[in-house]
Amino acid sequence: MPINVSNRVEKINLEQNVSLAKFSTIKSGGTADLFCYPTNLQELRAALAFARDKSIPVTILGGMSNTLISDDGIEGLVIRTTRLNEMKKRGNLLSVLAGAQLEETIDFAIEEGLGDLEHFYGIPGTIGGALWGNAGAHDHQISETVLFADFLDLHGNLFREQIIQSEFSYRLSPYKGRSGLILYEVHLALKPISDTHTLKTIALGYKRRRVEQQQFRYPSLGSIFKNPPDHKAGALLEGCDLKGKRIGGAKIARHHANVIINVDGSATSTDIRNLIVLAKETVFQKYAITLEEEITYLGRW
Ligand SMILES: Cc1cc2nc3c(=O)[nH]c(=O)nc-3n(C[C@H](O)[C@H](O)[C@H](O)COP(=O)(O)OP(=O)(O)OC[C@H]3O[C@@H](n4cnc5c(N)ncnc54)[C@H](O)[C@@H]3O)c2cc1C
Repeated sequence: MPINVSNRVEKINLEQNVSLAKFSTIKSGGTADLFCYPTNLQELRAALAFARDKSIPVTILGGMSNTLISDDGIEGLVIRTTRLNEMKKRGNLLSVLAGAQLEETIDFAIEEGLGDLEHFYGIPGTIGGALWGNAGAHDHQISETVLFADFLDLHGNLFREQIIQSEFSYRLSPYKGRSGLILYEVHLALKPISDTHTLKTIALGYKRRRVEQQQFRYPSLGSIFKNPPDHKAGALLEGCDLKGKRIGGAKIARHHANVIINVDGSATSTDIRNLIVLAKETVFQKYAITLEEEITYLGRW
């Protein structure tokens, strides 16, 4: 039953026991005790005020394309950002609310005559999730294009931080591990371009390559592991003959050993995690290298 929470003037509906599997790109995981979709700053603050009043934890989710949600669900309030998706252009600056899809952000940038994001076309998820994990492709990472970002703390205070490039590296941002931080708006400094048609063709080419690599054929989270220094995680996993290895409904993809797929929709998050543990142990036994997850585990593990 929805709970109607009001914070002086703003209201937001909180739903109870919402199944999260349907939103996740790997289609697994349990329920959120409480769940909401704020559409503006006031609603977001109303949700945070409710969680504060009740002393319950807050979890932020974007596109859910890089998180494995526990089968036992997530305690407290889950705030999904995907309806915070406004975009504005001021000169070469593109300001995008954190829940905007990365692909829609790139479409908008190109239509507005701004380039530099095309390499990322086809990465699922939101701009907020991308900056949080410093997503990247083709030797580029999202942080390179960001000038500053706006955050909320759990009290609803809004603050702005300049991006310091040295604080970002391969799939690592200074926000990982900082609890109680909600990325609200991302400000990107982009390159003006005149030939938007060619740029869109280039972007679509990047996406087409992903389709040809079968990235979207099965539910997945993309790459499970980071590449260790001087190695490719996929090659190490392939070297251990792990392609096709299956636990329950979770299987190491034949098209890429660093991808786990929910092969027939029946995989639980526990199957997926057990397969991750098995893969890590196998690689360690053969190569004495400990693979580190690129994905994040959320919920009651
Ligand atoms: C088919 C496929 C291909 C992929 N290819 C790539 C690739 O080429 N490169 C790459 O880097 N990744 C890739 N990924 C992984 C994933 O798409 C990216 O990491 C993406 O940027 C995650 O964004 P998201 O919105 O889905 O994040 P989510 O999975 O929703 O969240 C990820 C983490 O960020 C936190 N978070 C999200 N939004 C906010 C916010 N507003 N404030 C605070 N914290 C937040 C969450 O709490 C969580 O811990 C791929 C995934 C798939 C399924």
